[in-house]
Amino acid sequence: MSNNYKPAIRKQKAVLGTSAKVIIALLVVIVITLAAFLIKIIASQALKPNIVYPPERPDTETEETPHTRAEVTEEETSLETRTVDGSRYDTSDGTLILVNGKTAYSMPADKEKELVNLFEERHENFTLSNSNVTLSRVCYEALCRMTDSYAERFGYCPLMLTSGYRDSAAQQAFYDDFVVNESDKVYVELPGYSDHHTGLCFDVKLYDSGGNSYSYGRYATEKAAWIVENYKYYGFIMRYPANKGSFTGIEGESNHFRYVGMPHSLYITNKGICLEEYLNLLRSHPASDPLTIVTEDGDEYEVWYCPSDSLTVPRDLPYTVSGDNRGGLIVTCRK
Ligand SMILES: [Zn+2]
Repeated sequence: MSNNYKPAIRKQKAVLGTSAKVIIALLVVIVITLAAFLIKIIASQALKPNIVYPPERPDTETEETPHTRAEVTEEETSLETRTVDGSRYDTSDGTLILVNGKTAYSMPADKEKELVNLFEERHENFTLSNSNVTLSRVCYEALCRMTDSYAERFGYCPLMLTSGYRDSAAQQAFYDDFVVNESDKVYVELPGYSDHHTGLCFDVKLYDSGGNSYSYGRYATEKAAWIVENYKYYGFIMRYPANKGSFTGIEGESNHFRYVGMPHSLYITNKGICLEEYLNLLRSHPASDPLTIVTEDGDEYEVWYCPSDSLTVPRDLPYTVSGDNRGGLIVTCRK
């Protein structure tokens, strides 16, 4: 019996020894896995560049690559960038601000004081339907450049401005005057939501040297063909193109010019999109993947979107920054 008992104990000891080895081996594997995981986290923190990208880039956010995101930036754009304090820029200021039925805007009083009354300024190459048309200076100067070019070629420019900047009270008066039937509401915004609050747009008619006036929409291609073909080169867009009412909130209104500046006006017009679509597109172009715009003269621009708390700008090249009036900033860099 004792002979049979001893081997049984030895066998039990052997089984216990094997179990202990398996447990130890498992513990070692767990410890190594945990250590590797910790080292990876520490390494990734140490490599993280001083650039914070907007959250709309799931491909770079989820990418697990050994190189840093700063290297990705250089590979894709060959543009050296740096992150600066974006708080000194107002996201509701600049030539790319969006104002529509969903996005309100009110011009600050100090900016309102800087508006130009066109009746009091030089306006020899365009006419005014009244003495109250006012615009921001950047829009006025672009208008002068465009109408001066027209007059140089043809002697007389038939653009007549009927309305420019409108504050809330002026928009209310315009709305009350304009909306006779319910169907009229698709052509005009409520006070607080009009593009005319920006000071960057104006409505036009055509006025010939014989004193006859025409609607721009119907006669533009016949009586102002050069304007139709060239406004994009002077920073202007059609703010309310036909068939874009689902984006803009306003049905086609071809007599409303909006200044956004170059190269944005060129891109928007050539692509046949509206300002809403353009700004939505830019949201998918952070500094690491900018939108490249090349003009017909070969000038190259890079344009990208930044959230206001993380502004990425070119390290060495000149740039401009505009708010989008939706909490973001647009950087435009000429290469
Ligand atoms: Zn208008």
